[in-house]
Amino acid sequence: MDRWIKKDLKYNWHPYTQMKDSRKDPPILIERAKGIKLYDNRGKYYYDTISSWWCNVHGHNHPKIKKAIKKQLDSLEHVLFAGFTHKPAIQLAEQLVRIAPGNLSKVFFTDNGSCAVETALKMSFQYWQNLGEKKKTKFISLSHGYHGDTIGSMSISGVDLFNEVFKPLFFKSFKAPSPYCYRCPMGKRRAKCNIECIEPLDDLLKKREHEIAALILEPLIMAAGGMIIYPKEYLKKAAALTKKYNVHLILDEVATGFGRTGKMFASEHARVKPDFMCVSKGITSGYLPLGATLTTREVFQAFWADYEKKKTFYHGHTYTANPLACSTALASLSLFYEENTLRKVVKLIPVFRERLSLFRQLPIVGDVRSIGLVGAMELVKDRRTKVPYGFKDRMGQQIYREGLKNGLLMRPIGSVIYFYLPLCIKENQINFILQRAFNVIKKIGSKALCCR
Ligand SMILES: *Cc1c(COP(=O)(O)O)cnc(C)c1O
Repeated sequence: MDRWIKKDLKYNWHPYTQMKDSRKDPPILIERAKGIKLYDNRGKYYYDTISSWWCNVHGHNHPKIKKAIKKQLDSLEHVLFAGFTHKPAIQLAEQLVRIAPGNLSKVFFTDNGSCAVETALKMSFQYWQNLGEKKKTKFISLSHGYHGDTIGSMSISGVDLFNEVFKPLFFKSFKAPSPYCYRCPMGKRRAKCNIECIEPLDDLLKKREHEIAALILEPLIMAAGGMIIYPKEYLKKAAALTKKYNVHLILDEVATGFGRTGKMFASEHARVKPDFMCVSKGITSGYLPLGATLTTREVFQAFWADYEKKKTFYHGHTYTANPLACSTALASLSLFYEENTLRKVVKLIPVFRERLSLFRQLPIVGDVRSIGLVGAMELVKDRRTKVPYGFKDRMGQQIYREGLKNGLLMRPIGSVIYFYLPLCIKENQINFILQRAFNVIKKIGSKALCCR
């Protein structure tokens, strides 16, 4: 084993990793990256088909982003954001408000997605407290939703595999069934349905509106919950319900923001107006950590009071609005215009969708779904009964290993295989990656079928 890897395993504890497995399948030492390729210490490269955990947008090693970071480094690396401010944060907040949907007009910076969500939850909670609505203290989320790894954000997440052991620590929240078309909670088929899956949410709100502070959801893609892509009609109806029952709508755009769905923000597809929007991941194109929670003037006003009234938002992180990260985000936003990123993406979407549909030929592929440059497929033991591969089958892991052998970084979620492509990708690269992935899944699939 390489001496660096030995040392890595001696000192590092990696996220979402059973470290015992790492002795057999050690981590890969990446030395450099360019565009959509990652190069390891042996010169082998891997296509970054998941944008390095859904954050890379314009490709690795982009000269303009690097230049912006270097320039900022020459003047100011960091300063506290209470009582002080700086131009990168001012410009970035202005830009975010300009591109944000609806009435979002105030920006609260954090340094990661979980904390952007925590911020929204705490703001919504305190908003109702500040208004004297003392009973509005609970949240509703979707059963397959994922909102982060802090205890607060886990309390409203629904991924059992991650949550199970921590459940005793969570605050109480309510879950509504997910609009999971392939496994419809109402037993319907999408072609004939009328978004009946909204009814349980309606019932829940009707019964509990006086104790609900907010509904939180990921717009159009429940990402970590299994890349479940749902109809924009559901989002529209859910947003309308929050207005009807006077609860906040928090949109978690941490994964979907910054062009992933073909629009800057996923909520634009449904034209909904959230009270809060959480962003992170793609905000800096994956170069530096940054998060932000956007909200409305109305929410902001509820905290505006004489100091003695104790309506202040007592929350913040040391690296809030880090100037290097803000400058990076500004450079990334500029690139959207300079490189016409979204227009290019819109042209690539049909190519991607058509290529992806070919995976339906494979007998273990039960469902294929996509939006923008995000696409997923669900592997099943039997297409008719839709019985999924189990935890112990480790289908995802097998495909991950086989993908690496073939120069692809894919990182399935259980038996959901997905692509979360960097937006700078070219048409020929899409074709190449999907062709290789097809062969990988075909190989692992036929092994699974023959050995049943
Ligand atoms: C990744 C993710 C988060 C958490 O972001 P971190 O930066 O990993 O803390 C929150 N919400 C959604 C939808 C995400 O995909």
